[in-house]
Amino acid sequence: MSAQPMRTLLRGGGVIAFDGTQHVHLRRGDVVFYGDRIEYAGPAWTDRADAPVHQIIATSGKLVLPGFVNAHLHVTDTAFTRGWLDDYGASATTGAASNVTALYRLLPAIRAAAMAEDQLAAAECAFSELLLSGSTTVVELGFDAEMGDQGDMATPRAVGDIAGRLGLRCYLAPRYRSRYWKLGADGAPAYFAYDGDGLPRMRTCMELLGDIEASHEGRLRAMLAPGQVDTCEPELLRATRQVADDTGYPIQLHAGQSPSEFRRIRQQQGCTTLEYLDRVGLLGRDLVLGHSMFFSESGDVDDCHAAELARLRDSGTHLCHLPWVKARQGTAMRSFAKYRRHGIPVCLGTDTYPFDMFNEMRLAATMCRVAEGSPQAVSAAEIFHAATVGGAQALQRSDLGRLAAGCQAGIVLVDVMKPHAVPMRDGIQHLVLSACAADVDTVFVAGRPVVEQRTLVYGDLAQAVARLAEAGDRVNARVQLE
Ligand SMILES: [Zn+2]
Repeated sequence: MSAQPMRTLLRGGGVIAFDGTQHVHLRRGDVVFYGDRIEYAGPAWTDRADAPVHQIIATSGKLVLPGFVNAHLHVTDTAFTRGWLDDYGASATTGAASNVTALYRLLPAIRAAAMAEDQLAAAECAFSELLLSGSTTVVELGFDAEMGDQGDMATPRAVGDIAGRLGLRCYLAPRYRSRYWKLGADGAPAYFAYDGDGLPRMRTCMELLGDIEASHEGRLRAMLAPGQVDTCEPELLRATRQVADDTGYPIQLHAGQSPSEFRRIRQQQGCTTLEYLDRVGLLGRDLVLGHSMFFSESGDVDDCHAAELARLRDSGTHLCHLPWVKARQGTAMRSFAKYRRHGIPVCLGTDTYPFDMFNEMRLAATMCRVAEGSPQAVSAAEIFHAATVGGAQALQRSDLGRLAAGCQAGIVLVDVMKPHAVPMRDGIQHLVLSACAADVDTVFVAGRPVVEQRTLVYGDLAQAVARLAEAGDRVNARVQLE
């Protein structure tokens, strides 16, 4: 941010403004921001002597929208799973044999083969892709010692610095957990305890989070990331709750990923996953549950107990829906609309590749409609809300994910003079059901342009892609399947 803040007026195009409750498509509107804050979003701005405009950017032919809040992703290993996991995954309802191959055999082998240098090459490309597709706030969930650098904290620190340098707003969440998994000698999944059941690693993560919190002009923030609900001991989850209460850091936990996870919790804890999370005291408005698809063995929200759904709602816990990665494996949340009918907040994330919220929004809408057998099961507006305001709420940020006075200037301009965009009756329906990442022309984060004319301002995409291609060759050559 320069010492002298500028006042910028975006004028001439359509605007997705926020009216305090919901996003509203204005066919023609103005957005004004001063420094990193939005001052105005609505119909024509009236010039004010006390608020001189320093710069006017013409937005005709564009739609001005809030940047996406991408609430769950992994930038350091995702690229290297390409070509390995694409056609693998859990059987849709049973979590049977193919899941063992993907989760317990392939993933650990790929992650172990990715050294720090490779992970950073992947992170640079992923963050670039995120900005170029309109994500302005992201949650990067890192890894424990399963990666090739054996969990060296210098790696997540460097990952955070890459996000900061490219201009993103990033919640950094290095992972800790009680145990890891791989394929056992008998061909069945085997779990191995980490040192001190993960508590020492948790303390190491806390040191890093304390160091990075609010660095890069406040754009880098801390988040707690106990691994998965079935890889954390109850004490680790209780300790996480305590740290969150003491520091105000939000928490994200992978939970509800598969029927086998549900069965494992029931077997070990004697209750459902949601009852277990309630019992250890983790539920709360600062908690995000990544995936959230199998809180009953069938995966149907109707098969959850009414009391646990009420408890989930009353606690204010957020669910993070990651439709693409699971749709790719033949599974759908059943359903987004059912959770919303219970008053449970849902946000969106990309999890793996592509890091593209347009793809994710479209899948969220269509998978819900397929699951419910109706085009009216969920509106485009509800999905767009989840991709913006929903994510902001999950991060306890009322100043993100919306174009309204007082909010952070995370702003995206998409080109709407495209064959798939005209004529446009409803801008929000267009964004969810027709627009694509290639339409993103300009991106501001904290009032600073970070993408201009589809080009990164603070990064060299061609160089980053070349580095990742080389890293991919190195990793693929190192992968050793046991
Ligand atoms: Zn994940």
